[in-house]
Amino acid sequence: MVDKPKAAIAWLGACGGCDEAIVDLNEVLLKVAEAVDLVFWPVALDFKYAQIEELPDASLAFSLITGCVRNSEHQDLAKLLRRKSEVVLAFGSCACFGGTPGLANFTTKEDIFNWVYRDGPAVDNPHGLFPQIETVVSEGTLTLPEFFDHVYTLNQIIPVDYYLPGCPPPPDLITNAINAIISGDLPPKGSALAPRRALCETCVRNKTKPYRLEISKVKRIHEVEADPDLCFLGQGIICLGPATRGGCGETCIKTNIPCRGCFGPVPGVVDGGAKFLSALASLIKVEIDEDPKEVIATIVDPAGYFYRFTQPASILGSRQA
Ligand code: SF4
Ligand code: SF4
Repeated sequence: MVDKPKAAIAWLGACGGCDEAIVDLNEVLLKVAEAVDLVFWPVALDFKYAQIEELPDASLAFSLITGCVRNSEHQDLAKLLRRKSEVVLAFGSCACFGGTPGLANFTTKEDIFNWVYRDGPAVDNPHGLFPQIETVVSEGTLTLPEFFDHVYTLNQIIPVDYYLPGCPPPPDLITNAINAIISGDLPPKGSALAPRRALCETCVRNKTKPYRLEISKVKRIHEVEADPDLCFLGQGIICLGPATRGGCGETCIKTNIPCRGCFGPVPGVVDGGAKFLSALASLIKVEIDEDPKEVIATIVDPAGYFYRFTQPASILGSRQA
């Protein structure tokens, strides 16, 4: 019997939603298990790093890697799987762009530790102890991964072959991506295995988008009763659809929530947040006697809004390890 190709699925700085999305493939997952030998998937199977280290280099047909790189364990695992894999797929927005954990780049490691271990209202830490990379006890030395100063995208740590955006990616794109990798029917390396169009192009509300958009006050979705059939931008509600890659299935739009940008920028755009900001600036309408700053002030937390999924990959946040 011919050995099946080997594959790995790994979870770095992730919430688990991407692994959950893979589990939710149901019968498709059974077909994947028939086609490949899953040698590493910590969320489902109890394999150890040492078992991967023992494999010859490039002996895994592919690795799906979810999550950003926040600490030294993530970095070491990413480098190990890169060495052992022919193809690496950055799976989900955290791996592709840094994702929501990347918003931590707007603060410092020190401030995060102070809040989590000292100042947070639920913290009980009378001796003010903070985690240490090494702690010597009578039995030996205990170690923890080093928490980095910065959140990194996967491709800031290792070369990545393909990208599958989404938070998490939708089942049809996951299935297509896995089938393409298993069959070898792949686009050029560096491609995203997702449509190349902006979300607006397929949005059911696009036909209601005013030809000439003018926004005089930015409204937040929870402050208004949004019309479920009209373009959000036409209602003065920020929707990142014009600057975001499509392919998500418009799940948020269908539940009357504007696009938050989890699929990352449209192809050819490096910084989706900056792109949307410049587009929005051209839509803001002020009368001659009005101060444009008042309209801009109605945008609450613009950095958090426009870079919710992409800060580490953006011009603001990109940094190489
Ligand atoms: S991309 Fe979304 S679902 Fe996937 S690990 Fe990150 S936060 Fe979780
Ligand atoms: S701006 Fe949002 S609601 Fe309007 S067409 Fe684009 S994706 Fe749809």
